[in-house]
Amino acid sequence: MQYRIDKKSGNRLSVLGFGCMRFPKNLGITDMRKSEDLVMAAIAGGVNYFDTAYIYPGNEEALGTILDKNKVRDKVYIATKLPVVMAKGPNDFEKFFNKSLERLRTDHIDYYLLHMLTDTDQWQRLRAWGIEDWIAGKKKSGQIRQIGFSYHGKQGDFLKIVDDYPWEFCQIQYNYSDENFQAGVTGLRKAAEKMPVMIMEPLLGGRLADALPRDAVSIFKKAGADISPAGWGLNWVWNQNEVCLLLSGMSAKSQVEENLRLAEKALPGMLGEGEKDVYRRVLEVINKAYRIRCTGCNYCMPCPKGVNIPGCFAGYNASFSIGYVAGMQQFVTSIGVTSEKTGSPSHCVRCGTCEGHCPQHLPIIKNLEIVRKKMEPFWFKAGIAVFRKILGRGEQKGA
Ligand code: SF4
Ligand code: SF4
Repeated sequence: MQYRIDKKSGNRLSVLGFGCMRFPKNLGITDMRKSEDLVMAAIAGGVNYFDTAYIYPGNEEALGTILDKNKVRDKVYIATKLPVVMAKGPNDFEKFFNKSLERLRTDHIDYYLLHMLTDTDQWQRLRAWGIEDWIAGKKKSGQIRQIGFSYHGKQGDFLKIVDDYPWEFCQIQYNYSDENFQAGVTGLRKAAEKMPVMIMEPLLGGRLADALPRDAVSIFKKAGADISPAGWGLNWVWNQNEVCLLLSGMSAKSQVEENLRLAEKALPGMLGEGEKDVYRRVLEVINKAYRIRCTGCNYCMPCPKGVNIPGCFAGYNASFSIGYVAGMQQFVTSIGVTSEKTGSPSHCVRCGTCEGHCPQHLPIIKNLEIVRKKMEPFWFKAGIAVFRKILGRGEQKGA
C-alpha cells in the first residue's frame, strides 16, 4: 500500500480509501458478513481511511459494528458527514453529530465533512447559523479531529468556499472523464495548495468500470490485459500529485483484491506518455458516444441566469453514453437541484451572452432546448418539487 501524508494533520493515509456507501446488500439491507469480509481484507491490505455518511441508510451502523467487533477502530480513520441539506437550524448540527458518534460506536470523528455543499449561499446560511463556532467547540473537545467539506456544485463557488474558511481537507468528484466538471482540475490544484484533497467518484459511480462503450473497453484491454477498466480509472487519479487519496466503493472481494494490488504502485507521475495516450483514445470513444461536443471548458460561463451550460450538456451526453438514469443523476447534480440557484435549461432566456465565447462554436441556445426536451420531461418539475419538499427546501426558484 502506498501512503500520502495529510499535510494538515501529519496523518499517513492510504491512497486507497474505502467508500462504504456501496457495501454489499441483500434486498436493500447491508449484508454484514460480506461487508465485514471486505472491510477486514482492506485493513489487512493497508487501507486506513473509511468514508461513510449520516444519510447513507444503515451505513454508519454497519461500519461501526464491524470496526467495534474486530477491535480495529484505532487502526483506521473514519470520515463521516453532516447532512447539510437536512439541517433546519443550528440545533441540528449537534443532533446529527451525536447520532453519527452513536452509530459508529466511537467518541470522535477523524475526518468530518459538511456533506454536499453546492454553492456559496448554502455555506453562508450555515455560517449565519453559527457553524464556525460549533466546529470550533467540537475541535476543542477533540470530537472532530479534521474538518472539511464535500462538494457538488460549480467551480466558481468551489474556489470561493475553499478561500472562505481554514478547511483541513475537502472531497471532490474527479476522474478522467470529469477533468473539467464541478471543481475540476483547476479546483483540485487550487484546493491542494491549501489542504489534502480526497477524491470521490473516481469511476463515476462505477460507470467508468462497467458502463463504458464497448470500443473503450477494448482499448483498455489491449493496452493492459491485467488491469480492468476500473483499474485504469483509479490509476489516472493516483497519477496526480495533488490527490491525497481516492475513495473506491468496493462491493466485491475481487474489487478489493485488484484495488489493493494497484494501490501498491500508486505513485504520482507513474503514467507514461503511452498510457496517457490510451486515456485520450478512450475519451475519444466516449466523446463520440456523446451528442453535444462540449469540452466542459467553461468559457461560456457564467450565465446571467445561472444555467450550468457545461453541466447540462454533460448530463445529456451521459444519458446516451452510460444510460438515461445515470445521465439524469448527473444532470440533476450538475444543475444544483438542492440549491436555491438551480440552473437548468428551462432558465435560459436566450440572451445570447454565452454563444460568442464558445471555442467549439456550439449553438448553445439550440442545444439547451434539445437538452430541456430530453432532461426536463413533463414530470420533472413535480419530481423536483417533491424531492425538495422531502429535503425541506421549499420551491425551486424560477422553475
Ligand atoms: S443564452 Fe441562455 S444560457 Fe446563454 S447566457 Fe443567456 S440565459 Fe444563459
Ligand atoms: S464554451 Fe462551449 S465547449 Fe466550453 S463549456 Fe461552454 S458550451 Fe461547452
